[in-house]
Amino acid sequence: MPDNKVVTRFAPSPTGLLHLGNYRTAIFAYLYAKKNNGSFVLRIEDTDRKRSKKEYEKNIIESLKWLGLDYDKFYRQSEHVDRHQFYLEKMIKEGNAYISKEAAKDGSGVIKELVRFKNPNIDVSFKDEIKGEVTMNTKDLGDFVIAKNLGEPLFHLAVVVDDFEAGVTHVIRGEDHVSNTPRQVLIGRAIGAPTPIYAHMPLVLAPDRLKLSKRRGALPLTEYKNRGFLPEAILNGVAFVGWNPGTEKEIFTRDELIEAFELSRVQKSPAVFSEEKLEWFNKEHMKLLSPEEIEKNILEQLPDNMRNKKIIPIIFERISKWGDVKIVAEKLAYLFNRLGYSDVNLPIWRDLENHPEKIEKTLGYLKSVLDLLKVAKEENWNYESLKNTIWDYSGKEGRGNILWPLRFALSGEKESPDPFELAEILGRSETLDRIERLIKFLEDITKITFTETGETNMLNSKEATQDSTNITDTSTT
Ligand code: GLU
Repeated sequence: MPDNKVVTRFAPSPTGLLHLGNYRTAIFAYLYAKKNNGSFVLRIEDTDRKRSKKEYEKNIIESLKWLGLDYDKFYRQSEHVDRHQFYLEKMIKEGNAYISKEAAKDGSGVIKELVRFKNPNIDVSFKDEIKGEVTMNTKDLGDFVIAKNLGEPLFHLAVVVDDFEAGVTHVIRGEDHVSNTPRQVLIGRAIGAPTPIYAHMPLVLAPDRLKLSKRRGALPLTEYKNRGFLPEAILNGVAFVGWNPGTEKEIFTRDELIEAFELSRVQKSPAVFSEEKLEWFNKEHMKLLSPEEIEKNILEQLPDNMRNKKIIPIIFERISKWGDVKIVAEKLAYLFNRLGYSDVNLPIWRDLENHPEKIEKTLGYLKSVLDLLKVAKEENWNYESLKNTIWDYSGKEGRGNILWPLRFALSGEKESPDPFELAEILGRSETLDRIERLIKFLEDITKITFTETGETNMLNSKEATQDSTNITDTSTT
């Protein structure tokens, strides 16, 4: 058996897609092994033949690979059945287990040969890095079953034999296994294995403080991959579910995590998982990427007609994972499509009956802005100088009065980035064109209002609205 080298393991059962809570165990076991220059084992616990599926095993392997949790050893529990059997026979020979002939529970009258452990009925103590020294009485357990027959060992025996043979020194796993530990310690003693140090991780709860599950706020890890999260952010964010380094620092690279990780700093109380916080971790890690990487990832996700480098900062500001790019791009599609202003839904400009003067004023503002911008040269067409061009004027007339219609002229939307950002992306000629077209649109509305429907009758009928829309449509297409 190896010296004192730390060996940890992740021992998932491939019976479903594992969620983040499960991978937290893998992350802690990995970090602890690396921190101590030890090794990390991946053991697929597939002894439950009926429920174990290859696709889930594949998913576990893919997930660990994506997270970069490289393991030093990999095996399936089912490949070790002969070892389990070896120890089973040894225990029987030495009087620590016995074959028990029992009637099957189904009432069929069939007699089965189970293997039971000869329970010494003592208090069992074990060291738990998180819970401290734990002592549990084993009397109530009776002579528990450890194998269905010699060739079919059950969970506890398989875990103990496998941990022993792999030289596992630290069993890091979920709190749901605490109650299994006394049985496993007893089996371990019976086969002559040293008792490992345990570290039972507190539960992970959903934000509503109910147990995290596949249905409650926890996705399979590969789903985060598909949504465009960064593996280094997931590693960092998940490590912080129930652990912290005891300092203010939150953003850690893999090496920094390895360096900082301590089992003693894993909290005892349940940890709460928040997807929002995970998104925050992701955004922070995205900011650490080089501009080239950010650009490449965003451009990849953009629709063909939007692949324009100028739009990258505006998109980056609005995403927290690559999967958001498409959603944000959809909202910014107006930058690349011709605007018609046909669905103007700005009540203040439509409410001519009560405020005809507002549209006149807005027209005046837009015309002045147009004149100011026309003076700006192509080579100075950037955020700062555009802002300087308009800033004094908008300060004089009231910022909102000027910037709001300008923003609307450029986006056609109630909400959008600020007008200077838009103008920079659109470029000089498209910016001027959009302002001119909105002016024309508003003039057409006022024409209808004041000339076609009489002096005092304002735009208030559906027909008139329709007309104004049509005029705009023909004028802009
Ligand atoms: N296979 C068990 C599970 O998936 C873990 C056993 C252990 O870590 O000891 O919950």
